[in-house]
Amino acid sequence: MIESFEALEEQINSCTACQLHESATHKVIMKGGKNPKVLFIGEAPGKNEDASGIPFCGRAGKILDDMIEDMDIQQNDWAVINTVKCRPPDNRRPRKGELAACRAFFEKQIDMLDPDVIILLGNTAEEAFLGNRQLQWGECREIDGKNVVKFYHPAALIYTKSRQPEQQEFIEKNSTLW
Ligand code: SF4
Repeated sequence: MIESFEALEEQINSCTACQLHESATHKVIMKGGKNPKVLFIGEAPGKNEDASGIPFCGRAGKILDDMIEDMDIQQNDWAVINTVKCRPPDNRRPRKGELAACRAFFEKQIDMLDPDVIILLGNTAEEAFLGNRQLQWGECREIDGKNVVKFYHPAALIYTKSRQPEQQEFIEKNSTLW
């Protein structure tokens, strides 16, 4: 049984449960406070994250940082994780088997971080957390005592700038949650 973040990190770092470990440079585990009010869940590490071992450290990370500032969430009141801890080759979406292989780590992280609010960044995060797609973009639903909201993934906002005002609306609509 995993009792600490250090023990969880050790297990993730030595994991070879799916093929993604073969091409990964670093396992990418989490960033942020260990007792967060808000937990963001992204899809998977990208090139910069794989190189550094830090989630959301590239262009998408800058958008997430700006979003957190805009949401006025204080440092240590937020954390971010991904559905899988190793980068899928060519930044493809994680496959079902890979999500399943990493599920125990994903669930353990959510359990240990125990946030009040979970923000699912995109469809893969929603499928990993809920098992399928249930939420509309920007919708909030109470699930197991937590407020769960679905936002666009920051990377999607890089490529489709027209979604940025919509994301801003989602933030404003749900701002009393955090
Ligand atoms: S993605 Fe998850 S399950 Fe697959 S090797 Fe990496 S840590 Fe293990």
